Amino acid sequence: MIRTGAALTVWFAASLAMLMAGGTALAEKPAKQYFGAAKGPAPLEARAIGSYARGCLAGAQPLPVTGQHWQAMRLSRNRNWGHPVLIAYIERLARDAAAAGDWPGLLVGDLAQPRGGPMLTGHNSHQIGLDADIWLTPMPDRVLTPTEREEISAVSVLRDGGRTMRVDPAIFTENHARLLARAASYPELARIFVNPAIKRALCNMNWTDRSWLRKIRPWGGHHYHFHVRLSCPPGMASCANQNPPPPGDGCGAELDAWFKPREKPRGPRRARPDKMMADLPRECRVVLSAGDGIEPPAPGVQGDAADVSVGGAPVPRRRPVR
Ligand SMILES: [Zn+2]
Repeated sequence: MIRTGAALTVWFAASLAMLMAGGTALAEKPAKQYFGAAKGPAPLEARAIGSYARGCLAGAQPLPVTGQHWQAMRLSRNRNWGHPVLIAYIERLARDAAAAGDWPGLLVGDLAQPRGGPMLTGHNSHQIGLDADIWLTPMPDRVLTPTEREEISAVSVLRDGGRTMRVDPAIFTENHARLLARAASYPELARIFVNPAIKRALCNMNWTDRSWLRKIRPWGGHHYHFHVRLSCPPGMASCANQNPPPPGDGCGAELDAWFKPREKPRGPRRARPDKMMADLPRECRVVLSAGDGIEPPAPGVQGDAADVSVGGAPVPRRRPVR
């Protein structure tokens, strides 16, 4: 009896240790592993949750991969998902720019994953369905095959691959400038990120209205594509806006700083620690598991997901299917 008891104790201790080790390992997987594995959207009311670089997306809508005036690229990434306001914005920009004769159509890069959140590769932001990358290369006059959409490369609009920090006038045309001006003109648009050389080229042009230039923000990279960022939809309490850009057209000292040789401009490519589920808004656990989603490990080894809430209301813990 004593021996059996001791054996049981050993078995129990070993099992507990394995459970804890397993639980801990699961709990410590970066959030991008879960969000990167989500294949479809969370069947919930459409909501951007959290902030651009720390959040997730409920009720995402896909950008149709081929529209009359746009085509989505890199379809294998499954990142053509956004909040409905972002999908509407892209469709409207594509239609308006084509109707004005400025741009034949948009080649659209990454929006967000089906449930938003951190990504396995690239991008710090693009997490809440309000960011999109649009190529600075016009759409060709035909429907691209899926293979072409994987393999065709965008073209840099800078000279010498960007080393001179000047746009190449043979590539960056007035049409590019008018497309950017139009993209910045819609009220829901918060910011557009472009290479400082592109911002400078826009600043140096004659515009009757320069107010939209405030929303054109210089950033590293961004000479193959520009990045549009929409404001949180009005009244969406779960969504955190950024501060608006500084007043003015942003064509002065702030922009000049990017061109000073010894001053290393801030770039988006710093190594950042992976975000864990605990770093994201708690509702992102619900977004991940809703419908046929992924059940993230409960917080802590002995944790319980019962305190996860949607808009303050407690949500019962999902039980495994038996
Ligand atoms: Zn981007």
